[in-house]
Amino acid sequence: MHKLAQLDRRYVWHPFTQMRDWLRREPIVIVSGQGAVLRDTHGREYLDANASVWTNLHGHNHPKINAAIRRQLKKIAHSSALGLANEPASLLAAELVHAANAVCEKRGRGEREHGKMRTAVSFSPLPPFPLSKVFFSDDGSTAMEVALKLAHEFARRTARGKKPKFLSLAGAYHGDTVGAVSLGHIDLFHQAYAGLLFKSDRVMSPYCYRCPFNRAKPARADARDYRRCNWECVGKVETKFAAQKKRGNPYAAMVVEPLIQGAAGMIPQPAGWLRRVAEIVRGNGAQLIADEVMTGFGRVGQASSLSPVTGNERSRKHSTDRLEACPTLFACHQEGIQPDFLCLAKGLSGGYAPTAATLTTQEVFDAFLGEYEEFKTFFHGHSYTANQLGAAAALASLQILQSPASVRARQRLEQTLREELKTLWSSPNVGDIRQVGLIVGVELVRDWRTREPFGLRERAGVRVCEAMARRGVLTRPIGDVIVLMPPYCTTPVQVRRIMGALRDALREVFGKPTAPSAT
Ligand SMILES: *Cc1c(COP(=O)(O)O)cnc(C)c1O
Repeated sequence: MHKLAQLDRRYVWHPFTQMRDWLRREPIVIVSGQGAVLRDTHGREYLDANASVWTNLHGHNHPKINAAIRRQLKKIAHSSALGLANEPASLLAAELVHAANAVCEKRGRGEREHGKMRTAVSFSPLPPFPLSKVFFSDDGSTAMEVALKLAHEFARRTARGKKPKFLSLAGAYHGDTVGAVSLGHIDLFHQAYAGLLFKSDRVMSPYCYRCPFNRAKPARADARDYRRCNWECVGKVETKFAAQKKRGNPYAAMVVEPLIQGAAGMIPQPAGWLRRVAEIVRGNGAQLIADEVMTGFGRVGQASSLSPVTGNERSRKHSTDRLEACPTLFACHQEGIQPDFLCLAKGLSGGYAPTAATLTTQEVFDAFLGEYEEFKTFFHGHSYTANQLGAAAALASLQILQSPASVRARQRLEQTLREELKTLWSSPNVGDIRQVGLIVGVELVRDWRTREPFGLRERAGVRVCEAMARRGVLTRPIGDVIVLMPPYCTTPVQVRRIMGALRDALREVFGKPTAPSAT
């Protein structure tokens, strides 16, 4: 066993890891990375198929981000944001506000010019308010914690109620600090800490594949595309808001991961869900907190390429009036929604540094203004808030994201994933394939015809990912959902290697498909 692996096993306690399992074998020790490839102490190479747990955007060792960090390092690595401003953080805040309000609107149907469609694209802020202030912190949990505390205090100060309450989605995950955990609803992670948490309400999430209101028989397609329902999930949100209002303490805010819930199991929302829910939230005078820790910075792709929703007249209608080909970096904007809080982390620095931000409105900011002795200050902050190295990396990453080459690479990757994912349907153990832009969840089941899940003890997802690792592809499952979220630089050849590894892993773990699966 490599010496570094020995040291790890002796001294390191890993996150979200059963350490008894960990200690049974030699861990993979990563020493370097290049693009979408990670290399370990034995010189073995792996494709980073989940972008180092959803953080990396442009690949490892990116020359532009490396150079930006080096340039910053020659000046200073860190000075405090408590009482001092700094160069890259000021620039980054401006860039983030700009990006968070730049939403394209296609004006008209476009005109033909030299045989090509040309469309007038203009940028305009979304209603109801522009996001104009940036509070920096370190990671997703802290970005959520900041939004939560601000929304709580804002509600109190604007007389929404003495004990502001929050609503979030079933299965939600918003981080591991106590406030963020209180907003989450994954019992496995959260029950043990029930005594520490404040109470927040949950409402059903639009999990079409396992929705009790979906009357469609299982088919070989994304469950959103063939679902048969009457938007009962939206009705549930409406009912929740109405009931809470009746109790005389209307919700202060609703927290959502827009377009797709990550740790809940890669659960995508059918087109139109977010807009409908946002209308309910606003209609009830509550605030909308968007957790874009996973979905931000181009991860959800372009609006135009989102899968069309079929099989349901109402949903089809809604998929057509969705914004087309929108270069926005954020998931909310694809449904024309501007939240009151936009929480960013993971990809913010391109996957280079623990850097996070909570964006909010002038209205929220103003509620914290006052004389020194009024103590209206937001008493919150971290030692490394607005760290220069992270901010420099984030600035470089934003610049790359906005380059035409990156937009093209993302479109190509999204398309390649869409094509290659089709090859998985031949496995009877693939129940649902959910793609939102550059995020993929493949739900494994005992039999696709019945949607019957595997037993917990079978560790189906874990075993498939272990088999993929032996084939040089790294990712982590969420239960029996295999997550694929490669860096944007991943080439078509690399995508095919990832899919090949997954197909081979399925065969190794579950055996050869016995019955031909319908298409
Ligand atoms: C990862 C994640 C978080 C927590 O972020 P950390 O950086 O791990 O604290 C919160 N929300 C979402 C949607 C996430 O994916």
